[in-house]
Amino acid sequence: MSLINQIILLQEVDNKLFEIEKLLGDLPSKVEELTQNEDGVKTSLQNKENELKETSVSISTNETLVETTSEKINSLKDKLIDGSISTNKEYDAMMETIDFEKNLLSEKENELIELLSKKEELSKEIEEDKSSLDGIISELNTKKDALNAKMQEVSEEQNALKSERESVAQNIDSDTMSKYAEIYEARKGLVVAEILDNSCEGCGAMVPPQSINEALSKNIVFCGNCSRFLFKSEN
Ligand SMILES: [Zn+2]
Repeated sequence: MSLINQIILLQEVDNKLFEIEKLLGDLPSKVEELTQNEDGVKTSLQNKENELKETSVSISTNETLVETTSEKINSLKDKLIDGSISTNKEYDAMMETIDFEKNLLSEKENELIELLSKKEELSKEIEEDKSSLDGIISELNTKKDALNAKMQEVSEEQNALKSERESVAQNIDSDTMSKYAEIYEARKGLVVAEILDNSCEGCGAMVPPQSINEALSKNIVFCGNCSRFLFKSEN
């Protein structure tokens, strides 16, 4: 088979491979994107669950403090009336201590309120994260199933084309292969153009008679305008 016919064959195979990749569409990148989302939500969920644990520990510490401070205030108040205080000075000192404990109590009570609302907020966010994770995972599984089904469907054809491509490419020298790859990229898959009515079918430019004769002799000719390989059918 002449070199130009090998190039035409290679282009046919490459175009079929391109169609197969198009058939798979954006599924592989969609699966990748969803997997990243899943990881992100999982990490955020883990962080919030850790924070929730810490908050629960703080709440319990705070509740104990509120309880012991209240008890302390009550026992100090008892001393005010049980006759154990005899001087004004002792009375003033006791009142000062009670005020100090009362301030501490109200500080701890406020902290407790904040901690409880933080806990409530975190629990709500965790529930939301969990339900969005469920959605992401089920979307991911649907896409993965669709991708696998399509892959299975085309993989046999794709493998056959790949090995066909390999055996065709073996017959083409490396310079021509690089030239081919360059044009394939630049001309979106139409690498080889037929000469029709003395013009390049790829770009419409006139092809000089010398090049037409070369093409008829199955020599490698390029279009002077679009650089594509040119070929001429004998009939
Ligand atoms: Zn051209």
